[in-house]
Amino acid sequence: MTTQLLEAKSKNTTAEMERAAENEGPSPAHMRELIASGEVVLPVNKKHEKLVPLAIGKNLTTKVNANIGTSPEVADVKSELCKLDAALEAGADSVMDLSTGGDIDEVRAAIVENCTVPVGTVPMYQAAIDVGGPEEMSIDSYLQVLEKHARDGVDFATVHAGVTREALPLLERRLVGVVSRGGSFMIRWMREHGKNSFLYEHFDDVLDIAEEYDVTMSLGDGLRPGGIEDATDEAQIHELKILAELAERCKERGVQVMIEGPGHIPLHEVEENVRLEKAYCRNAPFYVLGPLPTDIAPGYDHLVGAIGGALAGAYGADFLCYVTPKEHIGLPGPEDVREGVIASRIAAHVADIAKDVPGAKEMDREMSRARADRDWDAMLERALDPRRFSDLMDGESGEDQCSMCADFCALKLYREKSSHEQKAHH
Ligand code: SF4
Repeated sequence: MTTQLLEAKSKNTTAEMERAAENEGPSPAHMRELIASGEVVLPVNKKHEKLVPLAIGKNLTTKVNANIGTSPEVADVKSELCKLDAALEAGADSVMDLSTGGDIDEVRAAIVENCTVPVGTVPMYQAAIDVGGPEEMSIDSYLQVLEKHARDGVDFATVHAGVTREALPLLERRLVGVVSRGGSFMIRWMREHGKNSFLYEHFDDVLDIAEEYDVTMSLGDGLRPGGIEDATDEAQIHELKILAELAERCKERGVQVMIEGPGHIPLHEVEENVRLEKAYCRNAPFYVLGPLPTDIAPGYDHLVGAIGGALAGAYGADFLCYVTPKEHIGLPGPEDVREGVIASRIAAHVADIAKDVPGAKEMDREMSRARADRDWDAMLERALDPRRFSDLMDGESGEDQCSMCADFCALKLYREKSSHEQKAHH
C-alpha cells in the first residue's frame, strides 16, 4: 500500500489530491508539490468510505477540528452521533473521537461510518484502558490498538512519542504540571517502569502501521502548558525539538505528519510559538489547541480559544482544534460542540483574511455590500452562522433599516440624497 506522500514524491497526482484541490485555491499539481514537501497533509484512510478528501497546511484555508467522544462517566453512542451531527452542521473540517468510556470500538466505528470529514483518534487512550491502566501498556498492546484504529478507517492519529524521560525533571518547575491525557499516561508508564517512552523507542514500528494504512501522524504535545504561567517553558520546547526529529523520520518513511501545539499561551507569545514550530519542524502543518491566551474565563473558553486561534492562524498555524464553553468544566454536549466549532471557524476566517488566503476577503466584501444595501436575505446567505442570524432577526422588520437606529439609520441617511442635491439634480 502506498501513501499520499509517497505518491506526491513520485510526482503522481492522486484522485484525492485532485478532489482536495477542487475545494481550495491551488491547482492539483501545486497541491501535490505542497504534500511532497511536507507543508500540507492530506489525511485519507482508504477505509473511510464517506470521506471527502481535505488538505491541511500552507496556502490553504485554516481548518477547524472538533473533539467529541465519550468519557468513563458519559458514554453513549447516540449522544456521540448527535455531537458528530452538531459538529458537521456547524462546519467542522475534521472530528476527533477521544472516547475513553463505554464501548470505544463501537463509538469509533459509528463515527467513522457517519462522518464525511477526516476522523482522528488518540490510540493511547484505548491502549491504556484495554490493559487496565497506563502502567500496564506495552508497545505491543499500543500497536494492536493503533492497527485496529487504522483498519477502522481513522485518517489521522495523535501519537505522544515526544514525551521522553529527559523532560521529567523540567516539569518540576511547573505550576500546573501536565494536562495532556496522553502525556500523563506516558509519564505514569515511564515512572512505573523506569524506562524511556516505548513510543519513542519503537517509533519505527508505529510508522510501519502508519505507512501501511496511510494514517497521518499528528505528533502530540503531551507536555503542552496547562496554564499561562507554564507557557513556552523548557519542557514544552524540549518536546517540540523531539517532535521535529520524529517528523523527519515520518517524512523519510513516506508517512504524512503534522505537529500539535499549545495550549495555554499568552497572546504576546503566540507568534514565537508558531515561528518555533515552523523553524524546527520544517514547515510541517501546525495544529494548535486554542491557544488560550488567558486562564480566567471558564464558561467562555470558546471565545478565549478563538482569540488565540485567530492570532496563531494569522501567524501561520494551519489547523485549529476548537475549545468549547465546557472546557475545564466537563464533557461538552451538542450545543457546546456547536458553539465551539462556530467560534473556531470565526478565528480561522479571521486568520485567512490576514494570511490573504484566496477568496477570504471576498466573503467580507460581499457581506459589507449586503449590509450597505440592507439586504437581509443576502446577509443571511453570507452569515458564517445563518441559524444564529435568523434567530436574532426574529422580531425585526427586515425592511431598509433595523431597530438599532431606526429612522436615524446611518446608512440610509448617508445614501439618501439631500433636498439640496435633489433640487440640483432637477
Ligand atoms: S438602523 Fe443603524 S444598525 Fe440598522 S442598518 Fe441602519 S445604520 Fe445599520
